[in-house]
Amino acid sequence: MADAAIEIKNLTKRYGRSKVYALKDLSISIMPGEVYGFLGPNGAGKSTTIRTLMNFIQPTSGGATILGKDIVRDSVSIKRRVGYLSSDMPMYPSMSGEQFIKYLSSLEGSSEQSYIKELSRTFRADPQKKLGELSRGNKQKYAIIQAFMHKPDVLILDEPSSGLDPLMQEAFYGLLKSAKERGATVFMSSHLLGEVQRVCDRVGIIREGRLIAERSIAELQKDAAHTIDITFRGEPPLAKLKRLSGVEVISHDSNHVSVRLKGSLPPLLGLLSEHDVTQLEVRQLDLEELFIRFYKDEG
Ligand code: ADP
Repeated sequence: MADAAIEIKNLTKRYGRSKVYALKDLSISIMPGEVYGFLGPNGAGKSTTIRTLMNFIQPTSGGATILGKDIVRDSVSIKRRVGYLSSDMPMYPSMSGEQFIKYLSSLEGSSEQSYIKELSRTFRADPQKKLGELSRGNKQKYAIIQAFMHKPDVLILDEPSSGLDPLMQEAFYGLLKSAKERGATVFMSSHLLGEVQRVCDRVGIIREGRLIAERSIAELQKDAAHTIDITFRGEPPLAKLKRLSGVEVISHDSNHVSVRLKGSLPPLLGLLSEHDVTQLEVRQLDLEELFIRFYKDEG
């Protein structure tokens, strides 16, 4: 198996003398080229994880590697290959957008000017206005541009699309797609489940500093596709449905039945063909259902 692009191992963080662990034994492996969504309620430890990966704060124990390098010992060389975005990054309020990008690319040295121009055009960023005078969404555009402009191998993004309007969100998804196509690895936190479902390959849910679930989006969609909602004209043939092998009735009322299909479809279709079915829907489970369950319950 290929080496992970980001390998978090037993990462544990306790702030100062705090008794509570912000992170406790967090382990996550992210493969090269993978887009990993990091989800969890407020205070779960998402920013702590991201700030630790960027070496802004240090682990209490455990650690992580990015592209095989240690996040603490090799943090300087890691930063050259990582694009980072967070909502609270320093942005030099008196610089214009154009000056900010020029300044960063002079530090960076490796960014192509034509690509920066293309990014600025795509995001319709106002180049002359001072960063401190930009609206939150417009500031976010510069946060995105600076994270992507040197075409980094790894992107670490803390709620990247927050504040963007739907059009700019689309532009951002396009950018993510081309980063993935050139083989970049993405670790991003998000609160937007639709976004996660659309752009991520895999998701991890963190709560109270611990990873409580990890699934691939393909897996989640496959599971969802096995739930079928059936509407009958009149009374559903409940007893017959319950006797069918490979079918589990999960809910029913006077003319609806929802079933989970564990076996093959033909026996169910055979039975339904003998009844007056007015609607049949294969459920596209919204991630929301799953995440609300994990956010609220013990998992
Ligand atoms: P999230 O990003 O998922 O909302 P955070 O990583 O910000 O969560 O917070 C995780 C836990 O660590 C919370 O209990 C929070 O109160 C605590 N925490 C975060 N930053 C600090 C800090 N600088 N000092 C002390 N505790 C902190």
